[in-house]
Amino acid sequence: MEAISVVGGGIAGLALAARLDPGRFRVTVHEAREEPPRVETSLAMWPEAQRALEKIGILSAVAAAGADFGRMALRDGSGAVLLEAGAPGVIGVSRADLLRLLDVAVPGSVARAYGTVATLPASGLVVGADGVHSVVRRNVWGARARARLSPYLALRGIIEAPVSPDGGGEYWGRGQLFGILPASGGRTYWYASYRSALGPSGVDVEEALELTRAHFRGRVGDIDSILAAVTPETTLAQRIWTVPYPGSYHRGGAVLVGDAAHGMAPNLGRGACEALIDAVTLADLLNAGPVPAALQAYSRRRLLRSQALRLASSAMVRLALAEQAQPLRDRLLRLAGKAQGGAPSKAE
Ligand SMILES: Cc1cc2nc3c(=O)[nH]c(=O)nc-3n(C[C@H](O)[C@H](O)[C@H](O)COP(=O)(O)OP(=O)(O)OC[C@H]3O[C@@H](n4cnc5c(N)ncnc54)[C@H](O)[C@@H]3O)c2cc1C
Repeated sequence: MEAISVVGGGIAGLALAARLDPGRFRVTVHEAREEPPRVETSLAMWPEAQRALEKIGILSAVAAAGADFGRMALRDGSGAVLLEAGAPGVIGVSRADLLRLLDVAVPGSVARAYGTVATLPASGLVVGADGVHSVVRRNVWGARARARLSPYLALRGIIEAPVSPDGGGEYWGRGQLFGILPASGGRTYWYASYRSALGPSGVDVEEALELTRAHFRGRVGDIDSILAAVTPETTLAQRIWTVPYPGSYHRGGAVLVGDAAHGMAPNLGRGACEALIDAVTLADLLNAGPVPAALQAYSRRRLLRSQALRLASSAMVRLALAEQAQPLRDRLLRLAGKAQGGAPSKAE
């Protein structure tokens, strides 16, 4: 049996542990957190990620627990529809549900170690599935691979009320963004983002919420009523970090998956999806052949696509949170909406 230490038991780490061949590998998952996430949030699962979930054997359970994210109106800051940006087949799933289902899919033979890993295991393959501030990446790839702080703050949560019939979608204002999407059980998943100096770590949620209410107050009724309903206990607030290009996803006896490899801005809703695809790709290659060849093939297969998405996500942030360019952006999007056949507008 060959030893694999997976540092991080989040989405990427659990998906990998669920898919590795227990007849060939002695797997240990090291996880810092002992409790599931306290605040409920949703994740968009695109079709490619759904194929990874199918391979793990939990797609139908994820779909049953999820909501339909497929129809999305893109609106300006006043709520007028700029265009209909549909993403057919995209499922919105609660992070807690996804983690629970992945956890159940991990074979009983996988060992669990709780606590923060500070020193990397000395033998066997070490997998960095430990997120954007990965200790594996910092130890093996060096200080230049440290995560980079973006100027943006993101808040999100779920409220116990349905999306209003004409209020769903993503609102792009001048330097600010607000999203309203359905969550399971007839609830609403909301998120907001804008430039802020709060944090960078340990962002005060109450302060962030006050700032957010001030940012969005009085422009759109649906946003006002959501922000009136949210509480610090049901809100997650954090600065956005990204990971620089590491050159390769494997080095010596270590390999990176998920945000540890390609932490990206959240604006395309792809980070967790790519984490799942990384995990299944790496597990299938490791199950099929010698470790060194599997690591090379994994880097080759995953580097280009995930780095392209990382760059595209950064471009998307600049577009969604445009400041000086906002009037031009809106005019172009409105033209694109007209070319679609004239998107109906709530504010018109
Ligand atoms: C606002 C926002 C919205 C998003 N929306 C979407 C979306 O709609 N769709 C989507 O696909 N993605 C989305 N993402 C991205 C997604 O959250 C991440 O890409 C995903 O969580 C990455 O999973 P991961 O397992 O690689 O890392 P993480 O989820 O960060 O998990 C890492 C795990 O490692 C553990 N860990 C860390 N360090 C150590 C250590 N030293 N020792 C032991 N354990 C450790 C942590 O406790 C954690 O459990 C969003 C992100 C943000 C910020």
